[in-house]
Amino acid sequence: MNSFDKGLMWFRRDLRTEDNAALYHALKMCRRVWCVFVFDTDILDELLQRDLRADRRVEFIRASLVELDESLRALGRDNGVEGVGLIVLHGSALKAVPAVAQKLGVQAVFANHDDEPAALARDAKVFGDLAHAGILMHSHKDHVIFERREVLTQAGHAFGVFTPYKNAWLKALSPFHLKAYPVATYAGTLASVPAEHATPMPGLSDMGFETTNLADLAMPTGMSGAHQLFEDFVERIDRYDEARNFPAIKGPSYLGTHLRFGTISIRQLASVAYQMHLQGIKGASTWLSELVWRDFYHQVLANFPHVVEKAFKHEYDAIKFERDKRAKELFAAWCEGRTGYPLVDAAMAQINQTGYMHNRLRMVVASFLVKDLGIHWQWGERYFADHLIDFDLAANNGGWQWASSSGCDAQPWFRIFNPVTQSEKFDPEAKFIRRYLPQLADLPDAVIHAPWRANEIELAAAGVVLGDTYPHPIVDHAVARERTLLRYAVVKNPNKI
Ligand code: FAD
Repeated sequence: MNSFDKGLMWFRRDLRTEDNAALYHALKMCRRVWCVFVFDTDILDELLQRDLRADRRVEFIRASLVELDESLRALGRDNGVEGVGLIVLHGSALKAVPAVAQKLGVQAVFANHDDEPAALARDAKVFGDLAHAGILMHSHKDHVIFERREVLTQAGHAFGVFTPYKNAWLKALSPFHLKAYPVATYAGTLASVPAEHATPMPGLSDMGFETTNLADLAMPTGMSGAHQLFEDFVERIDRYDEARNFPAIKGPSYLGTHLRFGTISIRQLASVAYQMHLQGIKGASTWLSELVWRDFYHQVLANFPHVVEKAFKHEYDAIKFERDKRAKELFAAWCEGRTGYPLVDAAMAQINQTGYMHNRLRMVVASFLVKDLGIHWQWGERYFADHLIDFDLAANNGGWQWASSSGCDAQPWFRIFNPVTQSEKFDPEAKFIRRYLPQLADLPDAVIHAPWRANEIELAAAGVVLGDTYPHPIVDHAVARERTLLRYAVVKNPNKI
């Protein structure tokens, strides 16, 4: 028995038809269902105002929507309904969603939870306007295995430390949490799109954006792209544990962007990883832990939303970071990969050229910015937010607060990565450095991690002229380390602040 005659499924960060909680509930609860996605100008205009027209995410979303549209059409056809598809709008979601819901005459709108503060504010407004029009809003957990206050300490508090959270997460896990929503079972309620809504999907240029180099990257889009990456990863998941720390090796899954935009279901990934974990496959256990970190940071954002503006640990807000002209120059050098520390520069070249950065390198460059250059973690957080295709507020904020020691379960403040030691340990043959910094390629392994240690003959033989073809180091790590220990000393006794 259907609860509603007409319903609308509003896709946001869940761009798939398979195992989609809100889509499943919409199809099951309504006699006729339409689907909509809004390219939200409240988000996109901010990028355009900052002249960020070549945004790989916009292109990734659009390509994934083409596949989502095809998948909806195919589901309709399988059920004898022609003309099913995705209604794609370009406008402010605040106005567009209530407007299309009213035009279609639906009684309910279905969406999956999005706990980012801006999304919660948007949803509160949209839900209010829908309610005003007599339309119900149904929202569902879909993006994580456990959300909000589902996993708590025994005292009923949200967790601030990862290991006990992970133990509680594993204890709470049941087959129910990993079970897929059988969307296809109810797909017969998908409805043909009325002619007035069957407009072509806006192109990138229609929205003011430019084509990027996404097509040249190993970043297949849509549900099919996600499956391709996952199938490839499962073949080597047993080696994840040893391989994941070495940026020159194909160690991780590269699924971050797909998890961000929901082109693959977290339940499907966690279910496979969990089964392999039970079989004692170490790489799968470690990868499952990474998926739990993802849930962890999502619940941190939901329960401690102050992290968006401030340090998770309040006493860290008292640290004085550099903000003067020199700091701005150092920040520009970091952004452009001109620090003179090859691993840092190669990592920044990776993010700038591809929109991806290996996890080990995210930790190295974040530590370098905050603890070698003395620059506020929020500057780096912003840069990553603008450049990562897999940018996710919860994970990015968690990563930056971890590196700056201000976050929950973070790196202790007195632990400071040495960028040269990290380079020698995790890129021992300098394959990654040579890939992204070809100007250093001919330096011997012994000095490529710190070119200023090379002698004149080695530099000349490699065609490297320090200060010309490659920069001198912009800071002395040993001196910067001492400065950082002094800077951070303010947190030793927060009561005295
Ligand atoms: P895999 O190693 O294959 O991991 C699988 C998935 O687990 C990832 O796709 C991601 O969803 C999740 N995951 C892995 N590590 C973490 C972690 N430490 N915290 C939360 N989730 C994790 N991850 C993002 O998804 N978006 C970000 O914006 C982001 N910013 C980061 C910033 C900093 C400073 C740091 C240190 C880490 C950041 N991470 C972020 C976490 C991690 O670096 C990426 O998730 C990972 O590199 C993505 O590559 P992958 O999909 O191949 O990862």
